[in-house]
Amino acid sequence: MPLARVLIDGPSELVFDYSFPDDLTVSPGCRVRVPLRNRDATGTVLSIEPMQDLGFATRPLSSLIDPEPLLTATLLELAQWIANYYGSTMESVIRALLPESIRSEEHSAKVQKMVQLMQMPSEEKIQSIGKKAPKQQNILLLLNGCPERKMLLSELGQGAHSSVKSLVKQGYVQVVEEEIRREPDADQQEQIIESFPLPLNNEQAQALEVAKQAMAEPSKPILLLGVTGSGKTEVYLQAARHTINQGKTVLVLVPEISLTPQTVRRFKARFAALDDQVAVLHSHLSQGERFDEWHRIRNGKASIVIGARSAIFAPLPNLGLIIVDEEHDQSYKQDTSPRYHGRDIAVLRAKLEKCAIILGSATPSLESFHNAQEGKYTLVRLNQRADSHSMPLVRVLDMRLEQQKQKNSHAIFSDKLRQALELRLERGEQSILFLNRRGFARSLQCPACGHACQCPHCSIALTYHRTEDRLMCHVCGYQSIVPRKCPECKDPAIALQGYGTQKVEEVLAKLIPKAKFARIDADAMRKKNTLRDMLHAFKSKKIDILIGTQMIAKGLHFPNVTLVGILNADIGLHVPDFRAAERTFQLITQVAGRAGRGELEGEVIVQTATPHAPAIQFARRHDFDGFSEQELEFRREFQFPPYGRCAVLTVRSTHERRAEFTLQTLHRRLLENLPPEIQVSEPLPSPLIRSHGQFRFQITLRSLHARPLTKHVQSVLQKTTLPEDVTATFDMDAISFM
Ligand code: ADP
Ligand code: ZN
Repeated sequence: MPLARVLIDGPSELVFDYSFPDDLTVSPGCRVRVPLRNRDATGTVLSIEPMQDLGFATRPLSSLIDPEPLLTATLLELAQWIANYYGSTMESVIRALLPESIRSEEHSAKVQKMVQLMQMPSEEKIQSIGKKAPKQQNILLLLNGCPERKMLLSELGQGAHSSVKSLVKQGYVQVVEEEIRREPDADQQEQIIESFPLPLNNEQAQALEVAKQAMAEPSKPILLLGVTGSGKTEVYLQAARHTINQGKTVLVLVPEISLTPQTVRRFKARFAALDDQVAVLHSHLSQGERFDEWHRIRNGKASIVIGARSAIFAPLPNLGLIIVDEEHDQSYKQDTSPRYHGRDIAVLRAKLEKCAIILGSATPSLESFHNAQEGKYTLVRLNQRADSHSMPLVRVLDMRLEQQKQKNSHAIFSDKLRQALELRLERGEQSILFLNRRGFARSLQCPACGHACQCPHCSIALTYHRTEDRLMCHVCGYQSIVPRKCPECKDPAIALQGYGTQKVEEVLAKLIPKAKFARIDADAMRKKNTLRDMLHAFKSKKIDILIGTQMIAKGLHFPNVTLVGILNADIGLHVPDFRAAERTFQLITQVAGRAGRGELEGEVIVQTATPHAPAIQFARRHDFDGFSEQELEFRREFQFPPYGRCAVLTVRSTHERRAEFTLQTLHRRLLENLPPEIQVSEPLPSPLIRSHGQFRFQITLRSLHARPLTKHVQSVLQKTTLPEDVTATFDMDAISFM
């Protein structure tokens, strides 16, 4: 008799073996109830092990929670890999794979009682029933009249219960329970009009051909490098159609559902005829909706699933194709444990499932591009815009000269940009203004003593919010009133430095009063549906100028936009991160790509104080190859990814000295028995030394390969007892060094 090896739910990472009776089908991935010491517990079966004589009797498990295993063998394998690679507990990984609504026993399918006609009595009998029990007669006639011969019990009218009961006894009807789906988009009732495949241009046709081949036989991942507007989405759509026609399922990952409404809608429109076979996994699904969607997917009722990062764990059976749109996007990296990268997990899942995978982007991550250069991925390029229009003309403006000219060191708009905006207004065309907010905000600073108002819990300047007339912390949400005098030296000259989207809006109102504009940023988007409504208003040309932050950089397509202004292009270059140049290049390229996507030619104006920065110059020329060549050389020289792995070990505590001391101890132990391929930095305060009231110190680690690094750090962490109130986190393949 074999044993079930069970991982117990809960933070302690307990694994025990249990026996089970012969008549119970227990397999890996099953959820089970088990006895644990003197209580009951729940857990997940990791594997089935042969019986061993351990010298003591194993206890039997109590019961199965679900009749079928919730996790497939592949997903379990994926889970194990994530736990090893990222150094996370298996329990936290299983928690990521099985959302709370699936694990907890509180949620279940919503069922409705249906009354079904089994056999219609003879005419004579009907008459006699009618005399004694007119209600029963009525129910029989009603059921007989409907096509499926069944109706909801609740629709049969008040007091139908006893009549139905009696009809059941007589064998005329039966009551069956049917699951109903809590439909996520039911309240939106958005009209989706079916779209049809476009005839592909040569480049697209070739890309589709490569994808089809990859589906026919196990192949390498495909990196689809297509300039903005080159019609990558059309390739995804036709590849997905091909997969579905072959009876297989498709998984589509997008950076964030709420920021990519247009992409989601294009998939919905193309597969409108499949109707409820399209499942969209939003983060704001209710627990009940999530339960239903998950089980629909598990049961093979969804042939295409669209979702953000965590959708990579969607339990789709029979996967034929995975698509990762905007594969370079940072939001694919999870920033709590398990700190997995959705794109990397997608590549691994495709390998395990033996299915095709397409990673698409106009600005691929250097990791993926390097993999293509090394021959690990198949590179497919779309160099032309699909509508045969040219790439927008990009001008770079030196704001230092502009500010001298205008005799205003705070000038936000260059004359060129203002004129360009006015021209668009005259022509009835639209513009987008983009403000890079990374590591930047409008803060309150005293010119006399230099004091800047900071968050008392985080080492970051507070940002001024005009509508509320308050200072706010963008890290923890702390708010305070605006001091009228400098809190340090009491000088009343304390003033706002820098600018944010609100300030841009204010200046623009004075500069071009006729223009109608709207602002899209995290503050303006707190309310549900605001983004959708604003994009809709912009599309129907009720708005001339759209002002926004990173939120508008992704996948938007507006044919009437002919001008994009990037107000402070270089701000992201000055953050302490080896990917700063890559991010700046990606951001400018992506934002510029919003211009000239229709019949009309596009223009992009990039304002910067560092016009010669390579990231800006390469973006100006739409030169991904030039940029990647130069940047990869720098990465190679310093053994940064993709030429090695980079991880961060962070220690946090409300007690500054204790955090620092703990990290020093860890640092010492890391250096003992250090495998030669691993490089360990000095322990340092994090760039954001204080966050949410906790002090943070970090060590950066580099290594040629990931496994030895994770193993070494894990072994040190396991041997070290951290003081109470000190936590340590390990982030493999870190993308944030703040
Ligand atoms: P990307 O995703 O690469 O940025 P899109 O898929 O948004 O590009 O395509 C840009 C525009 O070109 C869209 O309006 C799309 O409908 C159109 N398009 C794509 N492929 C074709 C094609 N083969 N023929 C004509 N128009 C196309
Ligand atoms: Zn704060």
